[in-house]
Amino acid sequence: MLERSLAVKSSSTKPIWKSLIADSITRLDQLAKNFEIDLHQLAPVVRNFPIRITPYYLSLIKQPHDPLWRQVIPDLAELTDTVTTKDPLCEEESSPVPGLIHRYPDRVVLLVSEQCAVHCRFCMRKRRVGIAAHEDLLGAGLEYIRQTPQIHEVILSGGDPLMLDDEPLARILNEIRQCNHVRVIRIHSRMPCTLPHRITDDFTKMLRDFSPVYLNIHFNHPDEITQQSAHACNQLADAGIPIGSQTVLLKGVNDDEETMHRLMEKLLHNRVRPYYLHQLDRVQGTGHFHVPVSTGLHIMDRLRGWLSGMAVPNYMVDLPGGGGKVPLTPQYIIRKEARCWHIKNFEGRMFSYPISSHNLP
Ligand SMILES: *Cc1c(COP(=O)(O)O)cnc(C)c1O
Repeated sequence: MLERSLAVKSSSTKPIWKSLIADSITRLDQLAKNFEIDLHQLAPVVRNFPIRITPYYLSLIKQPHDPLWRQVIPDLAELTDTVTTKDPLCEEESSPVPGLIHRYPDRVVLLVSEQCAVHCRFCMRKRRVGIAAHEDLLGAGLEYIRQTPQIHEVILSGGDPLMLDDEPLARILNEIRQCNHVRVIRIHSRMPCTLPHRITDDFTKMLRDFSPVYLNIHFNHPDEITQQSAHACNQLADAGIPIGSQTVLLKGVNDDEETMHRLMEKLLHNRVRPYYLHQLDRVQGTGHFHVPVSTGLHIMDRLRGWLSGMAVPNYMVDLPGGGGKVPLTPQYIIRKEARCWHIKNFEGRMFSYPISSHNLP
């Protein structure tokens, strides 16, 4: 079974997804052909934080400043952010070896690629994406995983792991599968959203061979769920690969209940289970996307109960300084008494709830 995956031949003709990456927009003058932008003003922004947009994702933008535009087109505000932390989660300090983050007892993040198909302007790893190459460091991370039996799950991230060809990706998955203590492999990718052509038959088959592999994808707006991306998700689901989705709460993109409701519903229809709604990490150059936590909690309040429970993600903050992720929920417990708590339901109606069975009459 593994031999078959490892033998995936890179065919002589370039797969479509690779041509689309080669045709991506990486310069302001290319962007200026499509939109009216101020080349002179934006040049320093792009020097700090490079652009990358697939022709596919570009085609989904309906007009300047719409929710998809905001995610990928550079903004002057990236340079005027008052926050100067590049690594607020102190990932570098939680790295026992370069390219691997070990924060929680039983799982690690392995950064397998520095590249992404699209550079999100709000990226949490803005400090590294698109800047350095990384392949040589992978050996140290894999060795750490081999030597650390407490690790039960390996999360491939980056960059985007799906920027790798099937063959090197299969080699990494195979290395991880050689460690008996690793049970689950999780891959974090935005490709089903930014370049769904990446989800080929060969790729899907390859993933299935390393089961259990979970795929966590990343959608921020209902307009990103096109026929093509829906097809990619359904193809993965047909192959038995469980798919979760992460969304980042972003100003001007999805910071209202109606958009979030449509997004979560549409994901669920495509057999994608919303997993986390992330509060934006305070990374330098992303301040203009910041949404107050109170707005996030309000949106959660309007999802829970109004939408299938399967479509309601957990709203997470990642504590600065490497404290890890914590869920925030709207306040449902309004008052606590010795015997009973007064709890609000999704419609705001109050109920008394006996808090332990011996309090029952
Ligand atoms: C988010 C994250 C994980 C995964 O956390 P889950 O709650 O299991 O999804 C693991 N390691 C690091 C460093 C993370 O930031």
